[in-house]
Amino acid sequence: MATPLSDQEKRKQISIRGIVGVENVAEIKKGFNRHLHFTLAKDRNVSTRRDYFFALAHTVRDHLVGRWLRTQQHYYETDPKRVYYLSLEFYMGRTLENTMINLGLQNACDEAIYQLGLDMEDLEEMEEDAGLGNGGLGRLAACFLDSMATLGLAAYGYGIRYEYGIFNQRISDGWQVEEADDWLRHGNPWEKARPEFMLPVHFYGHVEKTREGPKWVDTQVVLAMPYDTPIPGYMNNTVNTMRLWSARAPNDFNLRDFNVGDYIQAVLDRSVAENISRVLYPNDNFFEGKELRLKQEYFVVAATLQDIIRRFKASKKGRVTFETFPDKVAIQLNDTHPAMAIPELMRIFMDIEKLPFDKAWEITQKTFAYTNHTVLPEALERWPVQLMETLLPRHLHIIYEINQKHLDKISALFPEDMDRLRRMSIIEEEGVKRINMAHLCIVGSHAVNGVAQIHSQIVKDQVFRDFSELEPEKFQNKTNGITPRRWLLMCNAGLAELIAEKIGDGYVKDLSQLRKIAAFVNDESFIRDVSQVKQENKMKFAQYLEKEYKVKINPSSMFDVHVKRIHEYKRQLLNCLHIITMYNRIKKDPAKHFVPRTVIIGGKAAPGYHMAKMIIKLITSVGDVVNNDPVVGNRLKVIFLENYRVSLAEKVIPATDLSEQISTAGTEASGTGNMKFMLNGALTIGTMDGANVEMAEEAGEGNLFIFGMRVADVEALDKKGYNAMDYYDKLPELKQVMDQIKSGYFSPKQPDLFKDITDMLFKHDRFKVFADYEDYVKSQEKASNLYQDPKQWTKMVIINISASGKFSSDRTIKEYAKDIWGVEPSDIKIKPPNEPREPVETREAAVKPKSKGSLL
Ligand SMILES: *Cc1c(COP(=O)(O)O)cnc(C)c1O
Repeated sequence: MATPLSDQEKRKQISIRGIVGVENVAEIKKGFNRHLHFTLAKDRNVSTRRDYFFALAHTVRDHLVGRWLRTQQHYYETDPKRVYYLSLEFYMGRTLENTMINLGLQNACDEAIYQLGLDMEDLEEMEEDAGLGNGGLGRLAACFLDSMATLGLAAYGYGIRYEYGIFNQRISDGWQVEEADDWLRHGNPWEKARPEFMLPVHFYGHVEKTREGPKWVDTQVVLAMPYDTPIPGYMNNTVNTMRLWSARAPNDFNLRDFNVGDYIQAVLDRSVAENISRVLYPNDNFFEGKELRLKQEYFVVAATLQDIIRRFKASKKGRVTFETFPDKVAIQLNDTHPAMAIPELMRIFMDIEKLPFDKAWEITQKTFAYTNHTVLPEALERWPVQLMETLLPRHLHIIYEINQKHLDKISALFPEDMDRLRRMSIIEEEGVKRINMAHLCIVGSHAVNGVAQIHSQIVKDQVFRDFSELEPEKFQNKTNGITPRRWLLMCNAGLAELIAEKIGDGYVKDLSQLRKIAAFVNDESFIRDVSQVKQENKMKFAQYLEKEYKVKINPSSMFDVHVKRIHEYKRQLLNCLHIITMYNRIKKDPAKHFVPRTVIIGGKAAPGYHMAKMIIKLITSVGDVVNNDPVVGNRLKVIFLENYRVSLAEKVIPATDLSEQISTAGTEASGTGNMKFMLNGALTIGTMDGANVEMAEEAGEGNLFIFGMRVADVEALDKKGYNAMDYYDKLPELKQVMDQIKSGYFSPKQPDLFKDITDMLFKHDRFKVFADYEDYVKSQEKASNLYQDPKQWTKMVIINISASGKFSSDRTIKEYAKDIWGVEPSDIKIKPPNEPREPVETREAAVKPKSKGSLL
């Protein structure tokens, strides 16, 4: 067997990572040295590794700028319909390597950095993650930006430039500890502030009746400062924009009326206004009705809509009439978080542009589309009317007006059906009066979609059944996807190249071509190569764990990985019960053969989510017992992976053998982690939930370890009544596990430490962990048995990879473009740029710009 290539050697061979070319290498070295000198003001005697990272980042950034300007100019000139993706989260992770890949610069940069005596991976590790998201929803937005640029759509991401992203998680004595994510401390080389496009956002005040209609007056103003980040498409010279808003106090803040005289205090108080963009709310799938959060939601919406309307008015058609607005503008709402865009656009149309309600409403509905991301009741946004009245009084009036017309329409169709009116109202009247934001979004949009087939079905038939009865044509499905650039080329170069050797590189832009590798499922050398790439990835990850955390794991054991936010519905507890079951089996019969496993669990708990934090403590406590038991040896290890985030996902996913996707059927809307693992050659153990259902459909159910209740079974069990004791009494191994947790086997110093967990599992487990325990353990045994036969395992891996093409976000975005936005992908390659275009060298050449200020 040939000796494996080093990463350095491997990268040089790879065609899909760009052409090396001596002149490219020389140019990059030149740029690097120039930036080290002029931008960072350092030389090689005093430079740190971080300086080298910034020098390279600026060098790569230089290659984006010309393409960025040309793309935006192209949009200005051709005036296509714009797509606006509004999201409170963009979980971008790192940018350097992704940019090199999408620009085809990776090989040249690798070579340049190598010639400069530096290590590319060391430099890449210096970059902070842009952690402006919690989990799947925020990462989806980031994948969509990549796909929209790759498909040549005139698209924009709009969000908030949080000064602090998702907290950093430390594990101390087995408990989660949060640390602030000061990601901008060393500066962000990818953003460009655009103070000339700063916009005012109003809060509070009251509504005055005037002869020209209602007027929102006496408001407090906060300024929104845009920061633009370039979003390159894959090898098409398209560079789109993600525009994130940062809150700034006006310079006369508090100096005009009340705080007169106290200048110092007024300046200090500026931070109150600027707190709006200070920090990301760290809840995943949970609604926290805080005033600051509502301010954030309105802040992004108000600034973005002004920007959209400015750009529309600057375009040719926009000068004429707002009738054409929906032909030129599509706005996608990433969950209800930006839902205030609906009443805000109505306010602009009615109060500022003086359109009548009905006309404004027609245009608004045609403009918006809403993506639902969850059916969990605790996650649905329902803002108290009182809070809305204080913060956004005019919007509350408009919401009431929208609701009135909506209810009138329903009572005309269903006379006397008071219960239906109550169920469908945007305003909930029982208890504390609240605004149901999902209802507002459904009523205000022309399209509503779920994020996987099963989820869209539940949205239609259960959660929003009344609405789908009223307007069935509105409801759609758009199964989520992931970008194959980051989640294959970037994180798993070895596998990407292996695939390219067999089927060429067309799959990078058309992932359905992965089907072609199914032809090699019996090809002995391909099987060996696939398994070898996995083994290399596992070794590398094991080395990383040893270096960073001083833990040694056995790289020939099965890597069983469960990484995602910690949530009861995601059932990390079920996994934990299985770990203890395996431990008990080893202890009971130590001589019996056992397929070695390393169970890796990682994820952040929302800081206010008590049960999630207890689950982390239970996992680390079980790990302490299992990992230090000499009888177990290195057959079973439990690792809690600290600070799971995008850059860590990129390391652990390619090293995974078994992917845990074990939510209670009907609770995980789609999942996207599941897709990343499938694409990277892991097998899935999972329930028939979210996109797992479609993964099983694509690969064949027998090629996943599917177990447990289906949605119908869960419903039947709910009807009958779920009783945890039924399973506890019936299953001796489950009984033993629960008795151990309860009696303090894993917490000898504090036997009742896990009382909240055991009480929940026994008495009020909404997610029915015990009901799936038996089938889960059996399914895990099947996985272990197959793992003993490496060839059969790898064949199943190949089938899975070949079946994963559907889960490209390119496919998802094409569906949004066609079925919701009414735009078409463009594969015209915008002309590659030279250096700064048309340099102005003479007074005669210094012509007036075509569209000062509105081009971007
Ligand atoms: C993909 C991803 C998620 C979403 O994972 P699920 O398993 O779908 O919940 C969460 N966090 C990070 C860092 C991710 O990359």
